[in-house]
Parts: sequence; structure tokens; C-alpha cells
Amino acid sequence: MKKKSVQTSLIHSDYTPPAGFDAFPPGIHHASTVLFENVAAMRSSQWKDKTGYTYGLHGTPTTFTLEARLVDIEGGSHCLLAPSGLAAIAMVDFALLKSGDDVLLPDNVYNPNRELGRWLSQDFGITARFYDPMIGSGIAGLIGPNTRLIWAEAPGSVSMEVPDLPAICQAAKEKGVLVALDNTWAAGLALRGFDVGADIVMHALTKYQSGGADLLMGAVITRDRALNDRLAQAHMRLGYGVGADDAYLVMRGLPTMKLRFDAHDAAAREIATWLKARPEITKVLHPAFADCPGHATWKRDFSGAGGLFSVLFDARYSEEQVDRFVDALQLFGIGYSWGGPNSLVMPYRIRAMRSGWKEAGVLVRLNIGLEATGDLIADIGQALASLA
Ligand SMILES: *Cc1c(COP(=O)(O)O)cnc(C)c1O
Repeated sequence: MKKKSVQTSLIHSDYTPPAGFDAFPPGIHHASTVLFENVAAMRSSQWKDKTGYTYGLHGTPTTFTLEARLVDIEGGSHCLLAPSGLAAIAMVDFALLKSGDDVLLPDNVYNPNRELGRWLSQDFGITARFYDPMIGSGIAGLIGPNTRLIWAEAPGSVSMEVPDLPAICQAAKEKGVLVALDNTWAAGLALRGFDVGADIVMHALTKYQSGGADLLMGAVITRDRALNDRLAQAHMRLGYGVGADDAYLVMRGLPTMKLRFDAHDAAAREIATWLKARPEITKVLHPAFADCPGHATWKRDFSGAGGLFSVLFDARYSEEQVDRFVDALQLFGIGYSWGGPNSLVMPYRIRAMRSGWKEAGVLVRLNIGLEATGDLIADIGQALASLA
């Protein structure tokens, strides 16, 4: 070929770096197009086959490496990445449910999952029914001939009840129904989903895996190849992909995840213990505390707790007063999500979110970050003064 013009050489370079580079951080591969060596290689490639590459959406060395690391944490076999935790939830639903099917969700489920269930009911000919998270093996009575999927979450978002996962999974197994566990709270550290009988373990990597409050990502992990293939089909059809830099950031967070988780756990228990002794607080909804429904189940099944819990204020305080407390906090940001270094606070209108909520008092959720606990306690103390 004659000498390339400058314009072409800006795009086509003959240089390849020397082989043999090695370092601890995984490489970051940016790609939409993945190149095939020749036509035969293109024709024989299988997008589902993770021994090769076909297109950016179906994986790069960066995303495959992240998947493998997540599989190790949960003790699974296969992993699919999604652009957010909620996208991972939707992948499971679209893969496994069709018109005429029935799905069961806990009444304390992560609220956007509840919203997705409502949408499936309204527009997709699927029934989504909500169950008491403390139902245990009683879930068998709710499983109908069309029930295909049961979602579980431990503990439930915001109100923190800990379900009896082994009992729910056992009842589902006996009826041939799949259980998908949203294991975000335990991060695969305080509980491994397959150990309690889940078929599918879903994570919002947005939380502890990232640890930086700087990205959104989700994962769906399975042990069964055929089940993974059904999920992968939906993953492909929905066009799910994750950015290489975000995948890298999650991997950057993983080596410190257990240290961070344990630090969040110790700090949260210290602060929850302090709050428990305060006259303004009637209940500490933290699975390691007896106030929390399912506390005994947590003790039996979990090895830790992380940094997230809720408290109930005494009913003598109005929503307005509790809002003042929240506004007065200086080290706690008012915001959703959790798992990063910064402490967060969020007041919830729990009665509107849950059917049959019986507790009095305003509920406030705290995410204890990695600040010094003495400073956090001092901040809460000064903010409680503004209740009066
Ligand atoms: C945050 C969260 C999700 C959703 O994750 P996003 O990445 O924010 O979409 C799902 N389930 C639970 C329990 C969560 O806390």
C-alpha cells in the first residue's frame, strides 16, 4: 500500500505496545466495536460465549473481570452487569415474566421495585402482589399456578424488617418458583444469597461495591447456566451496557469493601446504641437491635449489618419538628442512596409507602458514613435540640 495520508494515519497506526505488561489494576477497555480477526472468526462468534468478544454491549476484558470478581464474592457462577441497580431488577422481571404470570414482592421492597411491579400489573398483563415480609414459610399459601418469581429483600428498604429467607426460598423451591434476592444491604458480605437458597442474587453496586457515591451500576448473579442464559437474553434485548470507567471504579472499590463495610457496621451500631438511649427515639429499626422485626432471624443468618438503619421518633414530635431536626444536621447530607463515605439522612412518609403500617412516629433513615463517630454523635445531639 502506498504511504498513508496524514488523515488516515491519524486513525490507523502501526504501533502496538510491547507485550508482557502487568500491574494490579485491571485494564480499562473502551469499545463499542470489537474487532474480529477475520470473517470466519466473526461468523463463528457467539455473543453469549464469554470466552470471546463480539460487541461492546456483550462485554470487554474490563467488564468480564468485574463480573468474575462479583461472582467470587457471592459464591455464584455467572454475572450480568446493568447500568443501575434498578435496571438489574428490571432485567430479572423482563427475562422471567410474561403476560399471564404472577410475581410476589415483599411489602417493604425497595420502592422503585414496587413501582415496577405496579407498572407490570397495569400495562403488561402480569399480576404483582405484595406479601408481608415476615410471612416466612407462609408464602407457600400465596404461590399460585401462575406464580413465576418471588422477590425478597433483606432487610427491607427503609422499614428494615428481616425476612426468613431460608423459609421463603424453601417454600418457593417446593413449588418450583424462582426467588430473586436483592442483596444490596448485605453486599454479599453479611449474607451470601445462594447460602439461604436464592436462585438469583441482585446487587446495586452503586452502594458498597462502588463505595464512592460516584456511579450507578447493578449486577445479577446466578449459579445455574440455563437461568443465566435466560437473563442474558433479556440483557441483550434490552441493550444493557456499563461504562468501562465505571466498571473500573467498582473494581477500585472492591479491595477495601469489607474493611469499609465493617467500619460502617461498627459505627452504625455505636450510633444506634446512643440513639436507643435518647428519650426522643422510641425504636431503633436496625437488624442488630431487638426493636427490629426479624432481629432473631438476622442473628441466625447474617454475620454483619453495614451502615444503614432507621429510627422512629416519639409520636409527640410532628413531621415539621422532625424535618427541623433533619435540616439542623450538619455532617449528614439529605439524600437517597448510601454506601459512600458520607453520612446521609432521609425522612420518609412511611405510612404512604407501606400497607398496614402500625407504628406511630416519624421514621428517619440514617446512613452512617466513615466520619468519626464522636463527631456524628455530637452533630445528632445538637440537631435533636432543634426538635423542641
Ligand atoms: C439503591 C438500591 C437499589 C437500586 O440501585 P440504583 O443503582 O440506585 O438503581 C435497589 N435495591 C436496593 C435495596 C437499593 O438500596
